Amino acid sequence: METCENKGVRLSRQREAILAELCKVKTHPTADEVYDMVRKIMPRISLGTVYRNLDFLSSRGIVLRIGGAGTQKRFDGNPVPHPHLRCSVCGRVDDLEFPLNLPEIPAEQAMGYRELRCDVEFVGVCPLCSGGEM
Ligand SMILES: [Zn+2]
Ligand SMILES: [Zn+2]
Repeated sequence: METCENKGVRLSRQREAILAELCKVKTHPTADEVYDMVRKIMPRISLGTVYRNLDFLSSRGIVLRIGGAGTQKRFDGNPVPHPHLRCSVCGRVDDLEFPLNLPEIPAEQAMGYRELRCDVEFVGVCPLCSGGEM
């Protein structure tokens, strides 16, 4: 698993704290969950600050934002594209520990888009939601 780094971007103390907390977990927390984690070390931080900083960190490619339209956004301290499993019932997201060759498209086919990455998400029902244990 890759380590968390700030990619040379100067981070405020709040951003450092948010990044550090996010990198401790593999649960792909929502912004609200990140807020709960960061609040334990920075009691005065606001939810809005956490939202803005998560947007900043994901826009710079320092963290990964996962979840498309209609699903709650979740965040991943590992910014290197990797496949995910998402439960369609409870919404939990796990890393798929199975090597996949993610497709790359040649620059001339990318219609001018840059910094392309491929988000792969498999959707199913997790063991907890089908009555088992994880
Ligand atoms: Zn589930
Ligand atoms: Zn992940």
